[in-house]
Amino acid sequence: MVRGMGSRIVVVGGGPHALAVLAALNERPEPWPESVAVVDPHERWTAAWEDKLGRLLLDRLRSPQVHHPGPRPMQLRDLVEACPAADQLALRRPEDERAPTPAGMRALVDELVAGLGPVEWIVGRAASIELAPTTPVPADDAPPPVIVRLEDGRPLHADLLVLAHNPSIPRIPGWAEPMITSGLARHASTVDLRTETLAGRAVAVVGGGLTAACLALETTRAGGRVTMLSRRPLRARPYDVDASWLGPRRLTEFMAASPAERRSLIDVARDGGTIPPRALSELRAAAADPGSGLVLREAVDVEAELEELLESASDEACGAQTEPSVDAVWLATGFASDVLTDPLVGPLIEASHIPVHGGLPEVTDDLQLPGLPVFVVGPYAALGVGPASRNLSGARPAAAAVARGLARASSAD
Ligand SMILES: Cc1cc2nc3c(=O)[nH]c(=O)nc-3n(C[C@H](O)[C@H](O)[C@H](O)COP(=O)(O)OP(=O)(O)OC[C@H]3O[C@@H](n4cnc5c(N)ncnc54)[C@H](O)[C@@H]3O)c2cc1C
Repeated sequence: MVRGMGSRIVVVGGGPHALAVLAALNERPEPWPESVAVVDPHERWTAAWEDKLGRLLLDRLRSPQVHHPGPRPMQLRDLVEACPAADQLALRRPEDERAPTPAGMRALVDELVAGLGPVEWIVGRAASIELAPTTPVPADDAPPPVIVRLEDGRPLHADLLVLAHNPSIPRIPGWAEPMITSGLARHASTVDLRTETLAGRAVAVVGGGLTAACLALETTRAGGRVTMLSRRPLRARPYDVDASWLGPRRLTEFMAASPAERRSLIDVARDGGTIPPRALSELRAAAADPGSGLVLREAVDVEAELEELLESASDEACGAQTEPSVDAVWLATGFASDVLTDPLVGPLIEASHIPVHGGLPEVTDDLQLPGLPVFVVGPYAALGVGPASRNLSGARPAAAAVARGLARASSAD
């Protein structure tokens, strides 16, 4: 039992998926809720995401202009095309199926934020979620059922909670652990190409996705040398998830499957890293140029190759060569999500006995955690949204479902 659309809603995370939920709520016929608060450690909407794009010096998104946090697919196109022609290139690229630039996404985010009802922005990090003990018929003045406790101890009271914190655990291959400990290797998410010294570096980049490609291309462009190691042949794909997973045919099949089968289908659909065709062509062209400093080693035993590289590096060091084969290993090995090990929500999931399949919770059609006043978007919504749940293409359907669920839960008073 929850309060009316006068509900107090707390959203954890202020990235694109959180914004999509509030933008979808804004489209609904019900009045804006009594109180909406967003908690995020950053000062403004989507700052963390922009920083991730900035770290890789990405000048455009991988996904096309129709994928964004707004409720109308053509909203970004309309925004760009309303600008003078001379300004449009800074917002959207003419090639790559009109992918937005980071500045284009920022312009859309600003437009969406400006259109929302009142939102309190709370700078902080949510650390735990507590549920008030349930009473059969809560009195009108009963306290809200959820307390989100921030890292600094501050409590946030909510009737309904939306989790949009994009929980992602860097994937570190077992063989790389000692290299992490020794400081030789780092996960790619800690590399910031804007501040890293690249000229003269000799880096082994591990991975076969767009992140690995960006790290390799930008490092060699800046005068470094890169050996890119991938356990599979490098594969071209326009988007993270094949476009067939964005349409009704495969999603109908997905939704008809059991939760456990859906979990397997997600792995089949995502299936490791791929590189957009344009970036893969650039990579191959660079590797074909002996002066580029880029070597591609694909479909190899990465651990063995790396060992060989490191051995030759130490031989070179003994022979007082000035240019070692490798002085850093960057692991562009992706991310995993496991709701049970997430300190924010894992204890709640366990205590509530919500079934979990390969780290993903079962959810209702409205992306609610069954029996709890808690909704999820992003990675944790995958069993309800499909394999593209963590991408921008997953944001709009997830947001529409959550907004519907918030409205339903609010009117269940
Ligand atoms: C470099 C890069 C490029 C990408 N390019 C594309 C692309 O072109 N197309 C595409 O579809 N997808 C792309 N993605 C995937 C992308 O991450 C998703 O599409 C989407 O933008 C993620 O949005 P989000 O809101 O779920 O997560 P985020 O943008 O990560 O936002 C989550 C927010 O939650 C906050 N947060 C985390 N923990 C807490 C906490 N405990 N308490 C409070 N706040 C918290 C974070 O600070 C952050 O602001 C890309 C990802 C990366 C890393």
